[in-house]
Amino acid sequence: MPIPAEITPREHLRVFDLVREAGVDVSDWKNFAKGAAHEASNPKYCYEWSFLQPGRVVVLKLWHDKLIESNGHIEQHLNLIADARKEPTGSRVKRREHMRQAIHIAIDGKLPIRVIVMKARPPRITKTGKKTRTVDHQILDPLPWAVVSGEANGGIVLRRGAPTAPYVDQYDCTENADATPKKKDVPAGSVFVRDPSVRRRVLAVAMGLCELCKQPGFQLPNGSVYLETHHVIPLSEGGPDSVDNVVAICPNDHREAHHGKLAGDIRTRLLDVIGKRRS
Ligand SMILES: [Zn+2]
Ligand SMILES: [Zn+2]
Repeated sequence: MPIPAEITPREHLRVFDLVREAGVDVSDWKNFAKGAAHEASNPKYCYEWSFLQPGRVVVLKLWHDKLIESNGHIEQHLNLIADARKEPTGSRVKRREHMRQAIHIAIDGKLPIRVIVMKARPPRITKTGKKTRTVDHQILDPLPWAVVSGEANGGIVLRRGAPTAPYVDQYDCTENADATPKKKDVPAGSVFVRDPSVRRRVLAVAMGLCELCKQPGFQLPNGSVYLETHHVIPLSEGGPDSVDNVVAICPNDHREAHHGKLAGDIRTRLLDVIGKRRS
């Protein structure tokens, strides 16, 4: 599939208008020295690479020539941590870090990601010999995007049209999925608190494949892929609620990890899986 024409920028629409169209509150843009007449060029905002409306949407700016087609999907592969290492100083550092945080907020909060696609003018060489890219045309993609793989080595894959939560677990699929127990709501010691962002990151790293048997989880009607998150060392045994103690596995392996004759072996294998994620 070539990059669709509808996301080929052909006119220069203002970031201010596109961000507003995506559902971000831009009322603070007018609060700067030049005032409301120049709100669209408020430097605090207009050069950012990402925008956030808490609880609602994350907007990212992506270059058109860095979009790729992969197995019938339009994607962009980013490694903002590696980029930050390559370019440790300058004005782009903060924007990149804001973008990294915005992506995390989208993953943790299951927020839709809207993308502003930018086309660059031919590169210019600055006096210091640096190549700069400036935006020629840009548009807001009508389709939402989502992160479909995360971060074991810092790399992430953004995919156009993917469900907002591409990977879900048993806690997403209960009747009241939002009623994740909080400490204050439950008598001490009766229910263990699970941090949703830990589960989300583990699911993103597993990319829909059981970390034990490597088989894909099943699909829900909305296209999300289902696996179950599991604490390898149980919380009841003092295991931490952290990415280094949680795996995403298929329901069958999950039941076996708890109740099977081979539960001890499975625990050993899962500890091994976690150890290998880092390499
Ligand atoms: Zn499995
Ligand atoms: Zn479990």
